[in-house]
Amino acid sequence: MAASRGELLGLTADELAALMVDWGEKPYHGRQLYGALYRRRQLDPESMTELSRSLRRKLESCVISLPRLQKRQRAADGTEKYLLELADGEKIECVLIPERKRNTLCISTQAGCPLDCRFCLTAMLGFGRNLNPAEILGQILYVLADRNLAIYSEGDGSRPALTNLVLMGMGEPLLNLDNVLKTLIILADPGGMAFSPRRITLSTVGLVPQLRKLAQAPVVPNLAVSLSATTDEVRDRLMPINRRYPIDTILRACADYPLKRNQRVTFEYVLMDGVNDSDDDARRLVKLLARLRSKVNLLPLNPGNANGLRPSPPERVNRFREILTGRSLPAYVRKPRGMDIYAACGQLHLAAGHHSRTTRTSRLDAIS
Ligand code: SAH
Repeated sequence: MAASRGELLGLTADELAALMVDWGEKPYHGRQLYGALYRRRQLDPESMTELSRSLRRKLESCVISLPRLQKRQRAADGTEKYLLELADGEKIECVLIPERKRNTLCISTQAGCPLDCRFCLTAMLGFGRNLNPAEILGQILYVLADRNLAIYSEGDGSRPALTNLVLMGMGEPLLNLDNVLKTLIILADPGGMAFSPRRITLSTVGLVPQLRKLAQAPVVPNLAVSLSATTDEVRDRLMPINRRYPIDTILRACADYPLKRNQRVTFEYVLMDGVNDSDDDARRLVKLLARLRSKVNLLPLNPGNANGLRPSPPERVNRFREILTGRSLPAYVRKPRGMDIYAACGQLHLAAGHHSRTTRTSRLDAIS
């Protein structure tokens, strides 16, 4: 039996149906199993009482494994950071961000990150490996169970619900595209979590060929692009990947990204004192984005990295935003969340000072 002792998490409904056929069962048991795993989130075959006893017995030879909790920290603002350990000892982080009307979970797609953005702490970790769909979904299932959260689509309002998912944790999702696409299919499946793609946002540095593939995928999430500069000269320095995919190639791919009604591409812009925060930068940004349906999230640099970069002062941030909004480009200043526990953007790095890896195992050259 090909898939026995296999991991059940991370299989799509179709794959589960095929597995049932392999086992000599009817394909619809695959759907049932899918509902048990993702709709009811029963992670122990014994509890799947709507399945026949003999099928449950067969399932016992499979594994359904969640990542293990290593550490959970709660910030003063209610943000909660989870440090999770995977089967092979790799460690990842995800962050639950409660707001007045929503609960957003920020998940990782890689252990560490091979990109080398100068302002981001995850870069200091180097690269471990890609996460598989079970490990990406495992973060969500872990936090749902830990916080006893519903999913918004189940919403009877009796308990708080997870309303938004952002692929903005550790790693570059588009370097792990196949696993990410499969995860999106599972998340959006109406027979399971029924998480609308409109409530899922994928953030990328802008890998052009992969971005074009994502645009054609069966489940297309909201797109956020980490831009953080208005000239290639500055972006080359801040984000070395820009040498491979310069700004205009990214913006052209964004122009072809399919948008539904009222949907926009988000551009994330980390504001750094004297580096990318001038009035000229603001005006150039407006020009660059002129032909795109877009909005800008401004993030004053979160501290923690040693490259001598400083956040733009608040007056600068406001002035920058006003130039954008004054020219009809929607722009928002993002309040950092969970800063006291290193949970804010660009701070995910396995708790300050405790790096699992001291040398970078992969560099830009290794990225195809
Ligand atoms: N690799 C993807 C997914 C990670 S998202 C990407 O870069 O988009 C992480 C976000 O945090 C990115 O928008 C990045 O620009 C931002 N970020 C990184 N370091 C930061 C810092 N020190 N302060 C504020 N934002 C930061």
